[in-house]
Amino acid sequence: MDYQAVLDYIREAVEPKFGKGKVADYIPALAGVPGGKFGMAVQLADGRNFKTGDADEAFSIQSISKLFVLQMVMSHFGDMVWTRVGKEPSGDRFNSMIKLEMEHGVPRNPFINPGALATLDLLMSLKGDTKQRIRNYLRYLALNDSVEVDPVVAKSEYEHANLNRAMAHLMKGYNNIHMDVDDLLDTYCYQCAMAMSCVDLARAGLPLAMGGYSALHDASIISTSQAKRINAVMLTCGTYDSVGSFAYRVGIPAKSGVGGGILAVVPGKMAVCVWAPELDTFGNSYVGTAALEMFTSLTHTSIF
Ligand code: GLN
Repeated sequence: MDYQAVLDYIREAVEPKFGKGKVADYIPALAGVPGGKFGMAVQLADGRNFKTGDADEAFSIQSISKLFVLQMVMSHFGDMVWTRVGKEPSGDRFNSMIKLEMEHGVPRNPFINPGALATLDLLMSLKGDTKQRIRNYLRYLALNDSVEVDPVVAKSEYEHANLNRAMAHLMKGYNNIHMDVDDLLDTYCYQCAMAMSCVDLARAGLPLAMGGYSALHDASIISTSQAKRINAVMLTCGTYDSVGSFAYRVGIPAKSGVGGGILAVVPGKMAVCVWAPELDTFGNSYVGTAALEMFTSLTHTSIF
């Protein structure tokens, strides 16, 4: 398969789709990101990688960070995480609170905002600086020591985090958040504001594609069973309340973020990351979803 040709083809084929989505603006610092950006990168298990467009440009990973924090928490706490958060799709927006009270402060899954807050709360119970722990982990996974937070995005999100703050307080009321809410929010905004490129993220996603083992790192990053489970949660919960149509169109596990990135995994083969900042109404990259749909069709890599 000529992956370079496929990526270059997709980059041209998505051109007419620009201008139909909308760059996230509820976090003011993200509103200024140019909507016409497009990058895509493929990382194969054998170490080969391919890229097109703005694949080396760092962008705000936002909710893609939830995937890596879940990975860290599962490495440290194993299945204990599932006592704090469920593994069912929510059917609601990523920042919805509607089920949270009815379900006694236990979020549906780790990829909606309340679920990510509960997961991070568990990570913060470990000794040491959680921000540094997250940054170092992302640097290690991306094999890139220059991975860094964007402090402007982190501050902007923190200042506009009323909904996330409300969720955290509600969960604290149900004893499902143990940390100080301000510290939790501050760390959450930090993880979301990490800036990484498609190339970084495709590398970081490789262990999930390869049963936890990455030849690039020459290490097992997570266990095979954990990789299997995280992929299942990505497939069923990774793209929020459009997860069904995403699976229908793209057909592989994926995690999106409102920065316009989507990291997807082809089990046994590769990780693919796309970035295009204009979002659909569900908060997933509009052009990015179309690009991944083309990718799995052209390369026959849907798992279905
Ligand atoms: N930081 C964003 C928020 O909390 C993450 C949401 C997302 O990427 N879907 O709203």
